[in-house]
Amino acid sequence: MLRIDQLSYWEKQSYFESIDFVIIGAGIVGLSTAIYLNERFQNAKILILERGYLPSGASTKNAGFACFGSPTELRDDLEKMSEDKVWETVSLRYRGLQRLFSLVEENRINYTPCGSWDLIQNSDPLLEKSFICYLNEQTFKITGKKEVYAEDKNCLQIAKFKGFSSAYINRIEGSINTELLIQELYKTVISKNIRVLFGIAANHIHNYSSGVTLDTSIGEVSAANVFICTNGFAKQFLDSEDIEPARAQVLITKPIQDLKVQGTFHVDKGYTYFRNIDNRILLGGGRNLSFKEENSTQFENTAVIQNYLTTLLRNKLVPHQDVEIDYFWSGIMGIGKEKGPIVKKVNNNVYCGVRMGGMGVAIGAEVGYLLANTI
Ligand SMILES: Cc1cc2nc3c(=O)[nH]c(=O)nc-3n(C[C@H](O)[C@H](O)[C@H](O)COP(=O)(O)OP(=O)(O)OC[C@H]3O[C@@H](n4cnc5c(N)ncnc54)[C@H](O)[C@@H]3O)c2cc1C
Repeated sequence: MLRIDQLSYWEKQSYFESIDFVIIGAGIVGLSTAIYLNERFQNAKILILERGYLPSGASTKNAGFACFGSPTELRDDLEKMSEDKVWETVSLRYRGLQRLFSLVEENRINYTPCGSWDLIQNSDPLLEKSFICYLNEQTFKITGKKEVYAEDKNCLQIAKFKGFSSAYINRIEGSINTELLIQELYKTVISKNIRVLFGIAANHIHNYSSGVTLDTSIGEVSAANVFICTNGFAKQFLDSEDIEPARAQVLITKPIQDLKVQGTFHVDKGYTYFRNIDNRILLGGGRNLSFKEENSTQFENTAVIQNYLTTLLRNKLVPHQDVEIDYFWSGIMGIGKEKGPIVKKVNNNVYCGVRMGGMGVAIGAEVGYLLANTI
């Protein structure tokens, strides 16, 4: 690959000279940050560096749930986090979805307000009615919508699931096409004259009082400020922050005739999730079966999780039909001991927006907005 010192005058001037903001990572957060920086500083020169030929973390690999919390996930969060923090996170997710829809038109990313269902396995204790009332009171404060959550066992019969004792609907969640979202953000970025270079890795950041220099795979890039939007890979630049990679594995079935599964579904505190896409099922999760092994930046699939997903699919989700799995993939998220993003100035001219967890579709655009406003 050509190095920067082999480029023409035009190329050097256009891409690499007098850069105000360089953004590392072209996922949801990197692209949104660029758009909001451009909104605030209209004459600023912005360059995005992405090491993959596509965004290569989670933004084009996720399940595309536009979601802000299933009952068992929220119950689990309430056991682990303070009540205020739990509702702050739900609020961030809901606000993030509104922010996302102010950036991209819903129909352009195939947004479907299909609702979501939390499926309760026989082994799970049933959720108390009073807990669902509490969820509704809290979500009303955030969304202004009444009765967001309710028990809805009908979906078990309609979809012909097996091995679940109950289900709870969230009426205002939905689904999107994850790749179309990135396309739309990318189109906006390009329309604003922001430069994007794919296939270039940032290796090291040197931070000076007057600006930053990045060592990259094609040579040195200087800028006034740098924004780290590399989520699951951020430890490379932020070794003292509470952020770790977390791999998530997914399968997609071959087309299924007369598919009854329609909508988005969560199982087991949100650790497992599935939805229809075209006439197939996309099923992911099971990271809680081997947290240690899934603390990885390697795009691989493991036998433990493949077996878990395959068994769940065949025995419980589509037990009445022969279903073929087409293929598996994986994506890398950024998580920490604490749930919630890190959006801050790291030092002099370095900023970061990382640790989206399994919520980046929901919060990514809002994190981009907040990050662009930290400077
Ligand atoms: C399987 C799966 C399912 C998910 N489902 C959902 C869901 O349904 N709903 C939801 O809200 N969230 C979901 N998520 C989470 C969501 O996808 C992420 O939180 C979100 O995409 C994170 O966006 P990001 O821009 O922060 O990071 P990323 O999309 O990971 O972007 C970071 C980018 O930085 C690049 N990069 C890394 N290091 C460097 C470097 N040194 N130099 C240059 N570039 C670099 C990477 O290639 C990558 O493209 C899911 C995630 C996975 C993996």
